[in-house]
Amino acid sequence: MKTIFLIISLFYINSVSSQNNIRISSDFPGGNIIVQKISKDTVWLKPDLSFTEGKWFYWYFKISNISGKRIIFKFEQNNVFTKFGPAYSINNDNTWKWYGENRVVNNSFSFFFTEQDSLAYFCVAFPYTEINFYKFLSNLKNKELLKIDTLCLSPENRIIEKIVLPSLINKPAFKVVITARHHACEMTENYVLEGIIESILNEKDLEFLRKNVEFLFIPFIDKDGVENGEQGKNRIPRDHNRDYDTQSIHRSTAALRTMIPSWSEGKVKIALDLHCPWIKGNRNEDIYLVGNSDSTIANNQMVFSKLLEKNSIGEIKLYHSNFLPYGVGWNAYKNFSTGMSFSRWASHLVGISLSTTLEFPYANVSGIAVSKDGARIFGKAIAYAIKEYLELKK
Ligand SMILES: [Zn+2]
Repeated sequence: MKTIFLIISLFYINSVSSQNNIRISSDFPGGNIIVQKISKDTVWLKPDLSFTEGKWFYWYFKISNISGKRIIFKFEQNNVFTKFGPAYSINNDNTWKWYGENRVVNNSFSFFFTEQDSLAYFCVAFPYTEINFYKFLSNLKNKELLKIDTLCLSPENRIIEKIVLPSLINKPAFKVVITARHHACEMTENYVLEGIIESILNEKDLEFLRKNVEFLFIPFIDKDGVENGEQGKNRIPRDHNRDYDTQSIHRSTAALRTMIPSWSEGKVKIALDLHCPWIKGNRNEDIYLVGNSDSTIANNQMVFSKLLEKNSIGEIKLYHSNFLPYGVGWNAYKNFSTGMSFSRWASHLVGISLSTTLEFPYANVSGIAVSKDGARIFGKAIAYAIKEYLELKK
């Protein structure tokens, strides 16, 4: 009897203690983490760099059994935190906040969870996967004007969306293509894209665009990478944004190379490819355009960059002085020796006027913390700059 009681007690203690053990997972869309060790209330982590050449910094995990605990998170890899620390969301509240400046010391931070906290998500920045895009669409005013179609299926059979906004007049004077997530980890650019689409559909003063321009939006070039939580940047065997010469190895880039020239009918004036830069520091904490090697395109980029500065009326601003000319910093030939980027490829389209990469930081824009709405308001500035650019060049 005594033995049975002891066994039952041990079973009870074990099961309680395993219920109380911290659990970390990444088995959800966009999830990415490698758990190296968990000891009491300290966890050792690092980003999963699968299919990535060199180091990158995307990570996103869920932690449960946290109620009332102070947990210490230690990362073994340098440069995995933005200036404002990690982003977090508690108890599935779907609001994401920056943990704050100076909260990370030696790649570690600690977090005190209240008794009511049962689970939390932590991420390098504010995550954005397919579900966020459909949520955005479901709440979008005038969404019926958009034609949501399929560019192609991904290797894992996901739909890679091709969204067309036809012009109100029968034969549009202009066409504009906007792409995002050539690099799966660059989540922040999708909030910017939301702002662009919402503004074009609904801003009273953007009637010119609705009337005269047909838009093509590709929100997730590397859909599998986004959903699987991969870095995508410097992808092995080939980065999606270096896949625009010789034979494309990725389905979405191959499909775009076929589709855009026939869709364009020589009317594509603007090709805009959204990106996020490196995680922090010099040039990575400002919004800027990446100068093309073609001087005509580069001059047009400067016109557009100034229009973006003029239309940056929100807290988050682009300053034209941050324009990155070709040949300066990382924007040099050696960075493109592994293949052609989308914006370089699009600069050869018949009739193109402006083909550009726009870099939008993950967390810190010239000292201002990125918020979802801040990014969307900057998207509005892009929409207005497109209107003014086309009016100027027509
Ligand atoms: Zn990128």
